[in-house]
Amino acid sequence: MLPLDPSALRASLVNASRKEASDMTPPPDLGSLDWEQLDLLGWRDPKLPRRAYVVLPGHPDDDDRPRGVLLRQAEAVPRRRAQCAWCQDVTLPNDVVFYAARRAGAAGRVGATVGTLLCRDFECSRNVRVLPPLAYEGFDREAARQQRVAVLRERSRAFLLAVLGDEHAG
Ligand SMILES: [Zn+2]
Repeated sequence: MLPLDPSALRASLVNASRKEASDMTPPPDLGSLDWEQLDLLGWRDPKLPRRAYVVLPGHPDDDDRPRGVLLRQAEAVPRRRAQCAWCQDVTLPNDVVFYAARRAGAAGRVGATVGTLLCRDFECSRNVRVLPPLAYEGFDREAARQQRVAVLRERSRAFLLAVLGDEHAG
Protein backbone atom coordinates (compact mmCIF):
# COMPACT_ATOMS: atom_id res chain seq x y z
CA MET A 1 0.00 0.00 0.00
CA LEU A 2 1.04 3.63 -0.32
CA PRO A 3 2.56 5.41 2.69
CA LEU A 4 0.18 7.38 4.90
CA ASP A 5 0.93 10.05 7.49
CA PRO A 6 -0.82 10.45 10.86
CA SER A 7 -3.37 12.93 9.57
CA ALA A 8 -4.27 10.62 6.67
CA LEU A 9 -4.64 7.75 9.13
CA ARG A 10 -7.00 9.83 11.29
CA ALA A 11 -9.01 10.98 8.30
CA SER A 12 -9.41 7.40 7.06
CA LEU A 13 -11.42 6.17 10.05
CA VAL A 14 -14.98 5.40 8.97
CA ASN A 15 -16.44 4.51 12.36
CA ALA A 16 -14.67 6.84 14.78
CA SER A 17 -15.99 9.99 16.40
CA ARG A 18 -13.99 13.16 15.98
CA LYS A 19 -12.67 12.72 19.50
CA GLU A 20 -11.74 9.09 18.95
CA ALA A 21 -9.87 10.05 15.80
CA SER A 22 -7.99 12.84 17.54
CA ASP A 23 -7.14 10.53 20.47
CA MET A 24 -5.52 8.05 18.11
CA THR A 25 -1.78 7.53 18.53
CA PRO A 26 -0.12 6.49 15.25
CA PRO A 27 2.04 3.37 15.09
CA PRO A 28 5.42 4.06 16.72
CA ASP A 29 7.23 2.62 13.69
CA LEU A 30 5.25 4.61 11.13
CA GLY A 31 8.38 6.22 9.71
CA SER A 32 10.17 2.95 9.05
CA LEU A 33 7.42 0.70 7.70
CA ASP A 34 7.98 -1.26 4.52
CA TRP A 35 4.68 -0.20 2.95
CA GLU A 36 5.20 -2.29 -0.16
CA GLN A 37 4.96 -5.40 1.97
CA LEU A 38 1.68 -4.36 3.60
CA ASP A 39 -1.82 -5.20 2.40
CA LEU A 40 -3.18 -3.30 5.37
CA LEU A 41 -1.83 -1.30 8.27
CA GLY A 42 -3.05 -2.48 11.63
CA TRP A 43 -1.80 -1.47 15.04
CA ARG A 44 -2.81 -1.31 18.67
CA ASP A 45 -3.04 2.12 20.22
CA PRO A 46 0.09 2.49 22.38
CA LYS A 47 -1.80 4.64 24.91
CA LEU A 48 -5.33 3.24 24.98
CA PRO A 49 -5.76 -0.35 26.16
CA ARG A 50 -7.78 -2.64 23.87
CA ARG A 51 -8.07 -0.02 21.16
CA ALA A 52 -6.69 -0.83 17.72
CA TYR A 53 -7.00 0.37 14.15
CA VAL A 54 -6.75 -1.16 10.73
CA VAL A 55 -6.37 0.96 7.62
CA LEU A 56 -6.86 -0.52 4.17
CA PRO A 57 -5.37 0.92 1.00
CA GLY A 58 -7.56 2.82 -1.40
CA HIS A 59 -9.88 0.83 -3.64
CA PRO A 60 -11.22 1.93 -7.03
CA ASP A 61 -14.80 1.61 -5.69
CA ASP A 62 -13.99 4.20 -3.02
CA ASP A 63 -12.22 6.77 -5.18
CA ASP A 64 -8.97 5.08 -4.12
CA ARG A 65 -9.24 6.68 -0.71
CA PRO A 66 -7.74 4.70 2.17
CA ARG A 67 -10.35 3.63 4.70
CA GLY A 68 -9.70 2.68 8.29
CA VAL A 69 -11.65 1.02 11.06
CA LEU A 70 -11.41 1.63 14.80
CA LEU A 71 -11.45 -1.68 16.66
CA ARG A 72 -11.86 -2.72 20.22
CA GLN A 73 -10.44 -5.96 21.54
CA ALA A 74 -13.21 -7.94 23.23
CA GLU A 75 -12.80 -9.15 26.80
CA ALA A 76 -13.53 -12.70 25.71
CA VAL A 77 -10.46 -14.84 25.18
CA PRO A 78 -10.71 -16.95 22.03
CA ARG A 79 -10.45 -20.68 22.35
CA ARG A 80 -7.00 -22.09 21.91
CA ARG A 81 -5.77 -22.48 18.36
CA ALA A 82 -8.10 -19.79 17.10
CA GLN A 83 -7.41 -18.83 13.51
CA CYS A 84 -7.21 -15.32 12.12
CA ALA A 85 -10.12 -14.76 9.74
CA TRP A 86 -7.95 -12.77 7.35
CA CYS A 87 -4.63 -14.55 6.95
CA GLN A 88 -5.89 -17.94 8.17
CA ASP A 89 -2.40 -18.81 9.20
CA VAL A 90 -2.28 -22.40 10.35
CA THR A 91 1.14 -22.28 11.93
CA LEU A 92 -0.03 -19.77 14.57
CA PRO A 93 3.05 -17.58 14.82
CA ASN A 94 1.19 -15.04 16.96
CA ASP A 95 -1.82 -14.55 19.21
CA VAL A 96 -5.26 -14.24 17.69
CA VAL A 97 -7.86 -12.16 19.52
CA PHE A 98 -11.45 -11.11 19.01
CA TYR A 99 -11.88 -7.57 17.70
CA ALA A 100 -15.17 -5.72 17.37
CA ALA A 101 -15.86 -2.64 15.28
CA ARG A 102 -18.77 -0.29 15.70
CA ARG A 103 -20.69 -0.03 12.45
CA ALA A 104 -20.40 3.27 10.61
CA GLY A 105 -23.23 5.77 10.62
CA ALA A 106 -26.73 5.24 12.00
CA ALA A 107 -26.30 1.51 12.69
CA GLY A 108 -23.28 2.21 14.86
CA ARG A 109 -25.10 4.91 16.80
CA VAL A 110 -27.60 2.32 18.01
CA GLY A 111 -24.84 -0.08 18.97
CA ALA A 112 -24.42 -2.39 15.97
CA THR A 113 -20.99 -3.96 15.73
CA VAL A 114 -19.08 -6.31 13.47
CA GLY A 115 -16.65 -8.72 15.07
CA THR A 116 -13.90 -10.99 13.86
CA LEU A 117 -10.91 -13.01 15.02
CA LEU A 118 -7.67 -11.35 13.95
CA CYS A 119 -3.97 -11.55 14.60
CA ARG A 120 -3.43 -9.54 17.76
CA ASP A 121 -0.85 -7.22 16.23
CA PHE A 122 -2.08 -7.52 12.64
CA GLU A 123 0.81 -9.66 11.47
CA CYS A 124 -1.36 -10.86 8.57
CA SER A 125 0.63 -9.23 5.75
CA ARG A 126 3.78 -10.88 7.02
CA ASN A 127 2.11 -14.24 7.61
CA VAL A 128 0.74 -14.56 4.09
CA ARG A 129 4.15 -13.74 2.58
CA VAL A 130 5.89 -16.66 4.20
CA LEU A 131 6.66 -19.10 1.40
CA PRO A 132 4.47 -22.15 2.05
CA PRO A 133 6.06 -25.58 2.34
CA LEU A 134 6.32 -27.79 -0.71
CA ALA A 135 3.00 -29.60 -0.44
CA TYR A 136 3.85 -32.04 -3.22
CA GLU A 137 6.30 -32.39 -6.10
CA GLY A 138 5.66 -29.56 -8.57
CA PHE A 139 3.59 -27.52 -6.11
CA ASP A 140 3.80 -23.85 -7.11
CA ARG A 141 4.78 -22.25 -3.83
CA GLU A 142 4.97 -18.74 -5.26
CA ALA A 143 1.47 -19.01 -6.73
CA ALA A 144 0.21 -20.31 -3.41
CA ARG A 145 1.77 -17.33 -1.65
CA GLN A 146 0.19 -14.87 -4.05
CA GLN A 147 -3.14 -16.57 -3.57
CA ARG A 148 -2.88 -16.03 0.17
CA VAL A 149 -2.10 -12.34 -0.37
CA ALA A 150 -5.19 -12.07 -2.59
CA VAL A 151 -7.38 -13.77 0.00
CA LEU A 152 -6.12 -11.45 2.73
CA ARG A 153 -7.02 -8.42 0.61
CA GLU A 154 -10.47 -9.80 -0.17
CA ARG A 155 -11.28 -10.67 3.41
CA SER A 156 -10.09 -7.42 4.92
CA ARG A 157 -12.05 -5.50 2.31
CA ALA A 158 -15.17 -7.56 3.03
CA PHE A 159 -14.81 -6.63 6.70
CA LEU A 160 -14.54 -2.95 5.84
CA LEU A 161 -17.69 -3.20 3.72
CA ALA A 162 -19.52 -4.90 6.58
CA VAL A 163 -18.54 -2.04 8.89
CA LEU A 164 -19.67 0.50 6.32
CA GLY A 165 -22.93 -1.31 5.62
CA ASP A 166 -25.47 1.10 4.17
CA GLU A 167 -23.03 3.95 4.58
CA HIS A 168 -20.89 2.57 1.80
CA ALA A 169 -22.35 4.91 -0.77
CA GLY A 170 -21.59 7.88 1.47
ZN1 LIG B 1 -3.90 -12.65 10.52
